[in-house]
Amino acid sequence: MTATVLTPLRTEWLALKPALSGDVRRTGRSRGLAAPLTGPAVIAGVAGALDASLVPGDLVVATRVGERELPAAPLLAGALRRAGLRVHLGPVHTAERVVDDPAERARLAATGAIAVDTESALLLAGLEHAVVVRAIVDTPEQRLLSAGMPVRGLRALAALRSAGPVIEQWAAAAADREVVLASPRSFCAGVERAIDIVDKSLERNGAPVYVRRQIVHNRHVVADLEAKGAVFVEEVEEVPEGATVVLAAHGVAPAVRADARRRHLQVIDATCPLVAKVHAEVKRFAGQDHTVFLIGHADHEEVVGTYGEAPDNIVVVNDPDHALTVEAIDPAKVSYVMQTTLAVDEAEKTAAILRERFPALRAPRKDDICYATSNRQQAVRTVARECELVIVLGSRNSSNSLRLAEVARGEGAAAYLVDDLGEIELSWLQGVRSVGITAGASAPPRLVDEVVAGLAGLGPVTVRETEVVSENVRFTLPREVS
Ligand code: SF4
Repeated sequence: MTATVLTPLRTEWLALKPALSGDVRRTGRSRGLAAPLTGPAVIAGVAGALDASLVPGDLVVATRVGERELPAAPLLAGALRRAGLRVHLGPVHTAERVVDDPAERARLAATGAIAVDTESALLLAGLEHAVVVRAIVDTPEQRLLSAGMPVRGLRALAALRSAGPVIEQWAAAAADREVVLASPRSFCAGVERAIDIVDKSLERNGAPVYVRRQIVHNRHVVADLEAKGAVFVEEVEEVPEGATVVLAAHGVAPAVRADARRRHLQVIDATCPLVAKVHAEVKRFAGQDHTVFLIGHADHEEVVGTYGEAPDNIVVVNDPDHALTVEAIDPAKVSYVMQTTLAVDEAEKTAAILRERFPALRAPRKDDICYATSNRQQAVRTVARECELVIVLGSRNSSNSLRLAEVARGEGAAAYLVDDLGEIELSWLQGVRSVGITAGASAPPRLVDEVVAGLAGLGPVTVRETEVVSENVRFTLPREVS
């Protein structure tokens, strides 16, 4: 299967044809398809701008044309942006005739559309799997029938030509696919609780609500809460005296709480109870004069917070190699704890080496790697065994998301960690018929839905879910917001 490229005008066809090896059709102005196409298609041509921020030569990828949603738009827009092109995402309106009248443009702009053409809606009526890309030729200030039009026309066609190699990649990535969803995936109970805490603080206290560091390690969660009025700060010193501050889910060192007290801040603690459990274990072991091996990544915020509980007793152990060399003051008084979001297998190897080197080593009462981390790793392992490619939704600073990609690669699948649909590279999809999808514990479930819907722009998608375990963990909210 490949994608058909549909260009209404001869000039548009001439601009794109040289870059494309497949089926490129001229459809004619203001006309639909003579017969529906079952395969995927790219509608490409020029358009007029409705939004004042667009200039001739900009590309618009339509998120919607009329009532028709086009969920693959961010996937195409991301590829075009990575190719260095100036791209806008937004609704496109299809008019019955060319719109040049300023009052008519203003009326259409008021509907939310950012560009207007004369064919996309007609062509989409005959297409199931489609994207629309348009190059801006005229704007409200630089109207169609005004001086400089030929130059603007050439600029728009040059932009279309530049989009050619990406459209060629799109055509090559077209396929019917099976999507396998890992289950469980996405939000864990600790992340849901942390987000609820900020939401409820905003409801009760109004904006702004200050949050120290990212509440959870996900760019979309942070942006959503910022839009509601949360203000993220690096340190409590940035919070006005007496204001409310929420402490993030991955926990903090006692010194941070002391700083907050000094500034008379109202603290609402969103530390995940399972991270708090590790802090409690450290205090217990340190209280017995143990050297506490903290298996984890030294620069991760959770480890920084846990370390702060007993810096004189804790030795951070990064990996199995490091476990071969670490020392304890008294080998008879040693214990270990773990960061909650490690790769289960590697962390167990590290612990095994420590056990061998320090026979008196005491373990935590209950596993530190949390239920959500181990369940998501188990689920992605199952999916990776069945799929050629695994997409992990999550941010680069999310430890458990990074581990999911590593676990999938360990099973032999190509695996990539992306923040959202727009970061998926078309080259990853070429020749791939089975795609596994999961999401880190801090990544919103909607991101998975968006990827599934976006892949359908490249051809028919069947979706299946593999549930390895069902989760029903919930944590209560702190009294300040319950
Ligand atoms: S990943 Fe685990 S430790 Fe981290 S917030 Fe979620 S449940 Fe808590």
